[in-house]
Amino acid sequence: MTAHSRLGVIEDLVAHRWVDPNDGQQKGIKIDRIEIADTLEGREAELVRACHGDKHICVVHDSFTREALGGRLLDALRRDGLTVSEYVWNKPKVELGAIRKLSEATADAEVLIAVGSGSVSDGCKYATFEDGREYSVFATSPMNAYTTPTASLSVDGFKKSITCHFAKGVFFDLGVIAKCPPRLVSAAFADVVCRTTAQSDWLLMHLLYDTPYSETAYTLLAYDEDDMIALAPKLLEGDFEALARLVRVSAIMGSSTSFTGTTHVGSMAEHMISHCIDMFAGSQHPGTSHGEQVGVASLTMSRLQNETIALDAPPELKPTVIPVEQLAKRYGEAMARTMAEETEKKAFDEEGAARMNDKLRREWPQIKSRLAAVTRPFDELHNAMAAAGCQLTAADLGLPAELYRQYVGDARFIRDRFSMLDLADDSGRLEPFLATVN
Ligand SMILES: [Zn+2]
Repeated sequence: MTAHSRLGVIEDLVAHRWVDPNDGQQKGIKIDRIEIADTLEGREAELVRACHGDKHICVVHDSFTREALGGRLLDALRRDGLTVSEYVWNKPKVELGAIRKLSEATADAEVLIAVGSGSVSDGCKYATFEDGREYSVFATSPMNAYTTPTASLSVDGFKKSITCHFAKGVFFDLGVIAKCPPRLVSAAFADVVCRTTAQSDWLLMHLLYDTPYSETAYTLLAYDEDDMIALAPKLLEGDFEALARLVRVSAIMGSSTSFTGTTHVGSMAEHMISHCIDMFAGSQHPGTSHGEQVGVASLTMSRLQNETIALDAPPELKPTVIPVEQLAKRYGEAMARTMAEETEKKAFDEEGAARMNDKLRREWPQIKSRLAAVTRPFDELHNAMAAAGCQLTAADLGLPAELYRQYVGDARFIRDRFSMLDLADDSGRLEPFLATVN
């Protein structure tokens, strides 16, 4: 029996025959094969052979993902006559020592097949990039990391995003994904539904500074986003149609950097707020995941963006104030200096503020309507996230509201990306807004 494929536009992208309506060019992604199906049972060996021929395979999983899918995959590959070994990587961590151990322990194999999300997938991606081997992934939960070329590496406790290489094959068995912990599904939903706040910020930056901006990824995401949101209430029931939409949007979001060359497309102020939590919360970090934090931050940004877009008169900018002393007290001298340097790149002096105010006065109606066209209403986003079981407030994350407000207020200082946080702060609107954030 042939399983029903749920690829949609991804089929065209993998075949490099998707025509981008923004510029009429044929485009694709650098992954040989993506499969999304209700079940992949019985097709495992065929998919692996299509990407790696009869090379020696090592299946890498932890005890949970072995149980969920890895064991079945091993059996299927062995039955098919492939040379297969196995590495059970318990408590996987993407740090140099563990990666070296993974490389050594799997050195016999020519190909690593990661079974699982997060660390197992990123670990195989990084290890094979370093030692020049191929890898593919069988997903056990939805997330956008499978289709990115980057891995999140821990260096001395800090997370660094390292550009590695793309998987040859990325395979989603919806029957397996439907059984993953619900928290992972909600977090994956939050990490892609932030498309609206990221696009709004990136477009704002483009309209004010004429920096590069591309609609390509958004055109691709739009094929599924409305349906994904409409089906949000069915996600946690394990509905295959709802999961397929989420998996497709995640896969496209993950590969979107290859169209734009930057991560702006899905990572603006909402991600900067989440990074602040990871960088600064220390012992107060509630142990929440990237997607969970990005979700709460997206709701904060969505409200700020929607409130700003509704203003009749444009915000009136004053020269940027970088509170270096306060930042030093909170995060240390060295960090405060780094933050000041990043912020200087986008800071307004007297003249810059006057020039931008002129522009805003002239173009505010057009800027507003361009932004409104890509910005989902706050209630729509909030309701969809609630239906998908996402955390919605700092309290849901387990973070004191006061601390969360501090990170929202300081997030603009960690990167040179201009966002609605900058526009609000430099026009005196951020502080009163923060008082209403929870
Ligand atoms: Zn993210």
